[in-house]
Amino acid sequence: MKYVSTRGSAPALDFEGVTLAGLASDGGLYVPEAWPQFSAAELAAMRGLHYAELATRVMLPFVAGSLSEDQLRDLCRQAYARFAHAAVVPLRQLDEQQWLLELFHGPTLAFKDVALQLLGLLFETFLARSGDHLTIVGATSGDTGSAAIDAVAGRERVDIFMLHPDGRVSDVQRRQMTTVLAPNVHNIAIDGSFDDAQASVKRMFNDPAMTGRFHIGAVNSINWARLMAQVVYYFAAALQLGAPERKVAFSVPTGNFGDVFAGYVAAQMGLPIERLIVATNVNDILHRALSDGDYSAGEVTPTAAPSMDIQVSSNFERLLFDVGGRDGSALAEQMRGFEATRAMRLTNAQREGAATLFSSARADADDTARAMRWAYEQCGEVIDPHTAIGLHAARAAGIATDIPVVTLATAHPAKFRDAVERSTGVRPPLPARVGDLFAREERYDRLSGDYDDIAAYVAERGTESR
Ligand SMILES: *Cc1c(COP(=O)(O)O)cnc(C)c1O
Repeated sequence: MKYVSTRGSAPALDFEGVTLAGLASDGGLYVPEAWPQFSAAELAAMRGLHYAELATRVMLPFVAGSLSEDQLRDLCRQAYARFAHAAVVPLRQLDEQQWLLELFHGPTLAFKDVALQLLGLLFETFLARSGDHLTIVGATSGDTGSAAIDAVAGRERVDIFMLHPDGRVSDVQRRQMTTVLAPNVHNIAIDGSFDDAQASVKRMFNDPAMTGRFHIGAVNSINWARLMAQVVYYFAAALQLGAPERKVAFSVPTGNFGDVFAGYVAAQMGLPIERLIVATNVNDILHRALSDGDYSAGEVTPTAAPSMDIQVSSNFERLLFDVGGRDGSALAEQMRGFEATRAMRLTNAQREGAATLFSSARADADDTARAMRWAYEQCGEVIDPHTAIGLHAARAAGIATDIPVVTLATAHPAKFRDAVERSTGVRPPLPARVGDLFAREERYDRLSGDYDDIAAYVAERGTESR
């Protein structure tokens, strides 16, 4: 399988190449040159498989040329053995139509583990082949950081530098990052928002002074391998609910547009998806873009769902590329305009292409609290604020009653227990697998949001590539 950049001028790479590259050298994002297809008979034959086996079947076309089927199966088994539920991603029924897909049974209590546990193993496999060293630089609104650090702590040939916005992640999220004392882990709290941190990371990928010395790798969802791993759970849920004979809708609490783009990929591969509902909080750039074509970034407003407090959604570029006719040079120009003004209009082709599968909704603080209360009082389920935003959108979407609607439950409620307690009166206990998180020593540094300070910090502590 070959991968091409959304901006048309970076070289095409194979799966190993895109996994280690992260961002393309022209500033674009890598996407497969064509979508693999599964027939209805092939889909039906996937029903009832264990998660690691399903993952192997769904991902195999994407890794062709870089991993054999047996190698991929072995990595999937290892990655998903660390999940605390035998089904890895269990489905729970809320009422006649609404379902939750619990994606938070991994080591750091959010769905990011599903992809990052695998990505850590992919890095190790590919770096052992080349003998190279990888310097991972990432920005996190909370959950990517903890999941990535768990996945690579103590591994040879990898250093990780993780930027988080100071004071804007929950105490559980911060401690899950800063109490990992492995020498290859570097946590940096920056004075600024997630978008500021992400802008510095993107700049580092295009800074020859850094890329000339270090092999800089990405763990954010700009890394294709992450999205690929997330495609699998759409198959897992839909097959359990009657696919390929019956269509299923999904509601996805969205920030960087990675998780919901994985749903789009599943649909392109032949999974019968009725609708993908993009659920945002008041940081609603995606809701505005999908409902009236206005993709313009405002200021980030902190909410009870910090992992969605994002204004610039990197992966939206992948959708615009695919629905806009895969014209890399036109998209490069459109994105340059956006980067200069922080605003753009979607073209008619982009709007119409997106509207065939996506709809969107925005949940404010009251909507979010009400959804948490509904789940608890009517269904006996304690859910986190991110999941609640998805559930609010799912119930408001007006999907025909014979179609199941699956909300992706993206975080364990204990990860955001203060917000959960405020809305429901219940304080969910931390599961045993996080151990003595609040007794452990923390280690992190504070920096300004200034790019030069961040680059100097990484340059001083990083390991140069071969
Ligand atoms: C990362 C995250 C999201 C948003 O996912 P994207 O792929 O960035 O759209 C939603 N909920 C939780 C709990 C997250 O950690």
